[in-house]
Amino acid sequence: MQEVEAYIGLGSNLQDPQLQVTTAIDALEEIRNTQLIACSSMYRSKPMGPASQPDFVNAVAKIATTLSAEELLTALQSIEHGHRRVRGAQRWGPRTLDLDIILFGDQEIDTNRLKIPHSGMTDREFVLIPLQEIEADLIIPGKGALSGLIEQLPQYELTKIETTDVESQS
Ligand code: ATP
Ligand code: CA
Ligand code: CA
Repeated sequence: MQEVEAYIGLGSNLQDPQLQVTTAIDALEEIRNTQLIACSSMYRSKPMGPASQPDFVNAVAKIATTLSAEELLTALQSIEHGHRRVRGAQRWGPRTLDLDIILFGDQEIDTNRLKIPHSGMTDREFVLIPLQEIEADLIIPGKGALSGLIEQLPQYELTKIETTDVESQS
């Protein structure tokens, strides 16, 4: 299998979201035939679905993998499961961990189980801004330059989480 570079969107708004995202990034490194290449900062965003839920913590990670997109999705779902994500009836409801495949190389996939590029990515600031941090000059298959998509975003409400540098405090 050819190695492919893929981007994973991470999100959490329950049970210590920052820790959920950090440990999920560690878990990405443990996926077979997969290496973690880069990771964005963490960002805080307003919930997309029902407003009566906590803010989200989001990040994007870049990986290299020889898995197929389907195999990668299965691995991500097992990580979600490990974080005790329970799928509720409510669309876009609160969750301990959500892992979406944003891009998978330059592939365009449209099956029952997988839509790549991820169908919501083009107007989600919490995907585009972290993605830009990792790969500013990215071209999205079928959707054009990442920088162009970001220009079209309304005023964004995303805030970068400044993580305290523990080492420099001592
Ligand atoms: P959204 O996809 O709009 O961000 P969501 O993440 O809350 O919503 P989930 O309940 O996590 O949606 O996933 C529903 C289904 O979406 C999954 O079972 C999976 O088969 C499908 N899916 C389609 N394309 C993708 C993708 N690119 N990455 C992850 N899951 C996907
Ligand atoms: Ca999602
Ligand atoms: Ca998802």
